[in-house]
Amino acid sequence: MAANASVCLSFDFDAISVWLGSLNATSPSAISRGEFGAVATERLLEMLARWEIKSTWFIPGHTIDTYPDLVRRVADAGHEIGHHNYCHENPISLSLDDEKRVLDRGTGTQRPKPHRMKSAMKFRRRAFPEVCQRQAQDRS
Ligand SMILES: [Zn+2]
Repeated sequence: MAANASVCLSFDFDAISVWLGSLNATSPSAISRGEFGAVATERLLEMLARWEIKSTWFIPGHTIDTYPDLVRRVADAGHEIGHHNYCHENPISLSLDDEKRVLDRGTGTQRPKPHRMKSAMKFRRRAFPEVCQRQAQDRS
């Protein structure tokens, strides 16, 4: 009997943004750890292609601005792109207006437009549903 199982694979390609945005780190050591995200993304894309697996990638706008060709390769390989703020900001530390600005800025840089949204740091606040709904209407 064949097994019938489903698996959801998602990746956060945060790169430098998680160190700058969420952790306020500016040391070369922290930044270099973020830069490894691009190396890991290359490796993951090769592995996913080899196994013919599609996945979801949550990518902040800052990462898209920093690695546009690599992000394009993720999209061109057929993986789903998810919104992940602009610089992986912690929404708990933002006012409602600032949170809306961060979500809009993250989308403004994203090519292609994200299919899903996941708040960085796993926190969802008041702006999240409103901005998600408005951006979904803008895409249709
Ligand atoms: Zn993340």
